[in-house]
Amino acid sequence: MISFYLDVFLLAASPFIGSFITASSRSWPDWIRIASGRSSCDACGRRLSPLELIPVVSFLVQRGKCRSCGAPVSWIHPAGELLALLAGILAVLAFDGGWTFAAAMFGWILLFGALVDIRTFLLPDVVTLGLIPAGLGVSYLAGGLEAVSLNGLAALIGFASLAVISAVYKRLRGRDGLGLGDAKLLAAGGAWAGPFALPWIVMLGAGATLFIVAIGHVLGRKATADTAVPLGPGLAAGCYLAYCLPSLVQPLT
Ligand SMILES: [Zn+2]
Repeated sequence: MISFYLDVFLLAASPFIGSFITASSRSWPDWIRIASGRSSCDACGRRLSPLELIPVVSFLVQRGKCRSCGAPVSWIHPAGELLALLAGILAVLAFDGGWTFAAAMFGWILLFGALVDIRTFLLPDVVTLGLIPAGLGVSYLAGGLEAVSLNGLAALIGFASLAVISAVYKRLRGRDGLGLGDAKLLAAGGAWAGPFALPWIVMLGAGATLFIVAIGHVLGRKATADTAVPLGPGLAAGCYLAYCLPSLVQPLT
C-alpha cells in the first residue's frame, strides 16, 4: 500500500521535475540560474506566476506564448515535461518501492543530459561520469558483488567500444563524428543495465537517432552526411529503455 502512494507521488511529481530539468538544461552550465529555476520569461524577463508554470497545461493554455510580450515559449518545455512523466511511468511499471525512485532518477538525469546535448552538442560530464558510480551503487544493492563486477565490466566495455569507433572514424574522416561524451554515456548505461544491455542500448540509440532525423526530415530539415546530429539523446533513451524494459517483460516476483 505504501508502495502505491509512493508511485502516485512519483507520477504526480514527474512533470514538475521535468519542468525543472528542462529549464535547467537551458541554463546549463550556469549553476546560479539553474538554482533559481525558470522563474521569468526568457524574452521580457517578467517573473512568471505559479499559474504560468504548470507543466504542459500552461503551455497549451497560453498557446506557447508569453502572456506579457507574446514571445514564443520553446516547445522543448512541454516536451521535457512529458518525457519526465514518461520516465516516471516506466519506472513505476517496471520496478517496486525504492528501486522505482532509483530508476526514475536515472531516467530524469538522462533526460537532462539529452536536453543539454540537443542544445550544445555536449553531454555534461557531471551526468555521464556521475551516473557510473550511481549505477554501480544501485547494482551492488540489487545484486551484491557479482552484479557490481559484471556492471563495472560493462561500463569499461561500453566506454572502450565507442571510444575505439570514435578514434577510427576520426582517423578515416579527419573529423570528429562521435564524441567521447557518447562513450561515457554508454559506460553509464553499462553500469546501470549490465553487459547484455550494451548491444540493445546501441541499437535503440541508433534507432531513436534515425527516428529523430526522420522527424527533422518531415519538418523540412534535410540531413546530409555533414549534418551534425547529436547521438546522446538516442543513446540516453536506449540506456533507460534497456534498464527498464527487461523488468517489464519478465516481472521480478
Ligand atoms: Zn515575455
